[in-house]
Amino acid sequence: KKLRKAVIAGNWKMNKTPAEATELIEAIKPLVKDADCDVVACVPYIDLAAALEAAKGSNIGIGAQNCHWEKSGAFTGEISADMLTSTGVQYVIIGHSERRTYFGETDVTVNKRIRAALDNGLSVILCVGEFLEQREQGITDELVAMQTKIALGGVSKDELKKIIIAYEPIWAIGTGKTATAQQANEVCAVIRATVAKLYDTASADAITIQYGGSMNAKNAAELLDQPDVDGGLIGGASLKPADFAEIVKAAS
Ligand code: PEP
Repeated sequence: KKLRKAVIAGNWKMNKTPAEATELIEAIKPLVKDADCDVVACVPYIDLAAALEAAKGSNIGIGAQNCHWEKSGAFTGEISADMLTSTGVQYVIIGHSERRTYFGETDVTVNKRIRAALDNGLSVILCVGEFLEQREQGITDELVAMQTKIALGGVSKDELKKIIIAYEPIWAIGTGKTATAQQANEVCAVIRATVAKLYDTASADAITIQYGGSMNAKNAAELLDQPDVDGGLIGGASLKPADFAEIVKAAS
């Protein structure tokens, strides 16, 4: 029924030890094995090895939650895209609002990190989205278009195939306050139009655009039913196997 295959990605944020990561992946595995969409779990760096091992032979892809743009060097606390690739990880989230808000991530550093991820063959989940004040000022569309444009600077049409964009209104993340299906669809459509302007219609038609922000087992179907919403980035509910599986089912 959908133009594009959906991608449902969990963002575990700063949760789970390696042993707990193994347990969680093992619990999710049987519940999503018949999924008709792509399923991804983005886990803390420390959990990557355990998650990759647990997900082996399953339909669950594993991702990290950030990467640095340099290959190596004096960047205490950072992890490079090269290092991620060496573990076998396939995805990386870039520009999550928590990185932008709490760790000084900017559109420019987001762009640098995307470049490094692509150069290392990783698939990117690029996050964009507005604060509530910005929505109230009526600047959501312009802001999200600008975030998208700067993030994709220097990304070729061919490389764009490795990019998923997640529209995540910041006021909806971890708040239990979901965007309405219409609001989600409107902004996903703005992002798609931005991609059409930057590249072409075929690229815009092909790109996966997710919604993220308090998506759960109850509201997923309505959100995922929207024509421009091609999946979800799931925080809280991705830590609950049954809920996450419900969302995956809603996308299938
Ligand atoms: C997220 O972290 O990207 C997210 C959408 O979180 P939550 O689902 O908990 O709102």
